[in-house]
Amino acid sequence: MSLFDTHIAVDWSGGNDRGATPKADAIWACVAGEDPVYLRNRQVAEDWLSARLEAEAGRRVCIGFDFPFGYPEGFAKHLTGTDDALALWDWFEARVEDAPKTNNRFDLAGEINASLPDIGPFWFNSLKRDIPHLPRKGRDRTYQGFAERRAVETRAKGSFTCWQMAGAGSVGSQVMMGLPVLARLRRRFDAKVWPFEPLDGAVGLVEIWPSLLAKSFPSDEIKDAGQVRAVANAMAVMDADGTLSQALSAGEGTGAEGWILGVGAEDILEAAMRPQDLPRPPKLRDDCFALPAGVDWTPVDDALARLEAALTPIVGVEHVSHAQASGRVVAAPVMARRSNPPAPNSAVDGYGFAHAATGEGDQVMPLLHGRAAAGGAYSGEVPHGSALRVLTGAVLPEGVDTVVLEEDCSVTATHVAFRGPVKARANTRKAGEDVAAGGHVFDAGHVVRAQDAGLLAALGVDQVPVFERLRVGVLSTGDELVEPSQDAPTDRTYDANRPMLLQLAGCWGFEAVDLGHVRDDRAALKARLDDAATRCDVILTSGGASAGDEDHVSALLREQGNLQAWRIALKPGRPLALALWQGVPVFGLPGNPVAAFVCALIFARPACLKLAGATFSVPQGFMVPAAFEKRKKPGRREFLRARMGPDGVEVFASEGSGRISGLSWSDGLVELPDGEALIARGDLVRYLPYGSFGL
Ligand code: AMP
Ligand code: MG
Repeated sequence: MSLFDTHIAVDWSGGNDRGATPKADAIWACVAGEDPVYLRNRQVAEDWLSARLEAEAGRRVCIGFDFPFGYPEGFAKHLTGTDDALALWDWFEARVEDAPKTNNRFDLAGEINASLPDIGPFWFNSLKRDIPHLPRKGRDRTYQGFAERRAVETRAKGSFTCWQMAGAGSVGSQVMMGLPVLARLRRRFDAKVWPFEPLDGAVGLVEIWPSLLAKSFPSDEIKDAGQVRAVANAMAVMDADGTLSQALSAGEGTGAEGWILGVGAEDILEAAMRPQDLPRPPKLRDDCFALPAGVDWTPVDDALARLEAALTPIVGVEHVSHAQASGRVVAAPVMARRSNPPAPNSAVDGYGFAHAATGEGDQVMPLLHGRAAAGGAYSGEVPHGSALRVLTGAVLPEGVDTVVLEEDCSVTATHVAFRGPVKARANTRKAGEDVAAGGHVFDAGHVVRAQDAGLLAALGVDQVPVFERLRVGVLSTGDELVEPSQDAPTDRTYDANRPMLLQLAGCWGFEAVDLGHVRDDRAALKARLDDAATRCDVILTSGGASAGDEDHVSALLREQGNLQAWRIALKPGRPLALALWQGVPVFGLPGNPVAAFVCALIFARPACLKLAGATFSVPQGFMVPAAFEKRKKPGRREFLRARMGPDGVEVFASEGSGRISGLSWSDGLVELPDGEALIARGDLVRYLPYGSFGL
């Protein structure tokens, strides 16, 4: 279960107010699944965070801040008398004076230096006036009582020290100006602070380092905005797949210095990015197919429910390109890396302008030179009252919020005219109106289709976490079987099931493994199963599944594979043999090809899907008029080979299960209920097209 409901990343700043227009190096915050928010100064940021936490009341919220939560060992003790980082937070909160344009950080750093012998450790006074005890250069320092860096920073390449109060990349002022804000948020919302406290409250504060979590991020926005978006989403994804709590545990026992989320858990982050290294899930339990005592005939629905309960995914996880993902099963929730559309754009070819400049009646506007096209943004601003040529898919330039279709305009070299009134934002698409960045795209268990590959690409998702392909072995048994390439006497049977089942496995997105044909010879069979267990995740056998004399399959599986023969109330079908050979599930299908096909569709397919990490799926059926008549006895469910004709669904002339041609004649199955049925022409019956079985 995830630790938090909402994940927020904040990119902090130690500087002054950055102005109204969003800029880099200001404070940026992003809630996973939402758009980044520009916060021009710390007061605005504190208000925004407080309002958001108020609004989230009742939900668990994790907020990551990108500045140190503590100082090197010994510093907290020097100022507060205790080794408690949170006491240091309060110490700063009581002394820091902060307003949008001024603050006392340099004076405070100087005062702290004055409380220590020698010169330092704080340095870099960037003000014009001199500050007593605060040197301008780091090399002027002589104080050596505290380490230059926290332990965690010696392990994080490229980190800056918290003693440096100004200059590019310095974190000194971010910490000093950040901790008072965190101290107030902590008190007001009873937040728990990692790694100093267990994160067992509604609000958790953690220290993050964006470049560690967000190795790459979309480049269609200000860097800081893209980074907080990526980090917030990464936190949400890690929380969903359980790796967040593992990464958090790496910070345990690190004292008053604090820790950076992800450091010491690089293997976990790596694994989250390349989960093929994760251990494979455990094999199935030996008794998973056991039926309760006294069960004789099992109705189809009971059998399916038992199968679903008995099986768990047994394959590992890997990442593949979205282009290779078709037919694969999504292994972890997939989030949009950017919005679709990423920016407001035009839905038509026409002329764009500010809606506020229009009114009733005929409108005439001066036409600007140039144009905005898809992939060719207009760089300037469109002045209020002017219009610009815009083409379908073009990002709306600054000053344009509405577009008129070119067919509705008359245009000269200098002006464009059209009829008012025009609806605000007509013919435009909002950024993210389809999918917002960070938005949930697919759940684990979803099987990727062609259109999904398109969506993933549109949302900038290149790599997709998917389950490894389930390896489905197919084995035919029986002395009578021969290959169709051979001439065969009439007492021999061509092996029809193996090519059929191999094809089915492939259609279902599995890796089909041809285990060949083995004669009714116990030693040969055992050797073949032993080999299969090393290179398959599941084995489909056909033939030899009944209790007849020649049924070495049943005998062997009974003795060494904990065989369970499920007598399912189904026609066509025979007992479905379920066993585990060295932990690998074995589905013993009937030898008769028609029965083998139907049982594969009804039982083997959903079972294999579940083993492969997908949902145990029930085929979609449609009620359609019958173009046949039939009286059906109670006691078992029947599947008839069927296809749609002009008067409704038709069934194959013979129900004889030896008539393999009926499988090719049909496009689906009619499913008749377990009970008695008298079907007249025109009655509605349930039709399952083969498409509903993924064929
Ligand atoms: P069994 O389940 O072995 O008793 O076989 C039932 C019927 O299915 C017999 O007529 C077998 O010859 C036939 N059969 C078994 N396996 C195959 C196969 N792979 N291809 C075609 N027919 C088969
Ligand atoms: Mg046989």
